[in-house]
Amino acid sequence: MFIELVDALRCPRAHEESWLVLAMSRIEARHIQEGTLGCPVCHAEYPITEGIVDLRLDDGEGARAPTRDTRQAPGLVDQVPAEHLAAMLNLADALGFVVLAGEWGRHANVLLELDPLPPLLLVDPPDDVAMRPGLSGVRAGARLPLAVGAARAVAVDDVDAVRLASAAQSTRAGGRMVAPGQALVPDGVRELARNEHVWVGEREAASSAPVRLHVRRG
Ligand SMILES: [Zn+2]
Repeated sequence: MFIELVDALRCPRAHEESWLVLAMSRIEARHIQEGTLGCPVCHAEYPITEGIVDLRLDDGEGARAPTRDTRQAPGLVDQVPAEHLAAMLNLADALGFVVLAGEWGRHANVLLELDPLPPLLLVDPPDDVAMRPGLSGVRAGARLPLAVGAARAVAVDDVDAVRLASAAQSTRAGGRMVAPGQALVPDGVRELARNEHVWVGEREAASSAPVRLHVRRG
């Protein structure tokens, strides 16, 4: 977990948004390897192990919910090469981090060769993708545990409406979102293009009421 991304993480419990406090840690090359994130609101603690933060809710007895099976679009990642994904996500500069959810994490090692390279945050990374400099990982429930508008772009491999809505909410205005073709485009996202496998959309500006321009004549 790249230390600068900790600011973007949020406690998954239903309470007011609050950043998380890094309690103790082993850090290598500005990436936290082992440690704990604590929530100052509900006092939940989330472990960091082998560079991955576990932000799944526990059952009250310390056991975490199982990782979600997001393979609802089998073979999707094989159909969309990493370079194509990078183009759809508009990763032309290193400003802001990119979320790759589920199976999209398989493209991380190719994307790490991009120059310039934005930080990559893998949500529910595949078991065989290890964290390394440039790669951060979290395990999560259906909702992405991120601040509103925190990510520059998000790729989702899932058709779950809760995850799609939270992915849209986590993407900054003007940022890109990529999801399986079967997934409904969530509110606040404008579809830009689609092929037989995926659609790509753009996060629209703030969800507040649209500003109307009143033209007065007289
Ligand atoms: Zn909390």
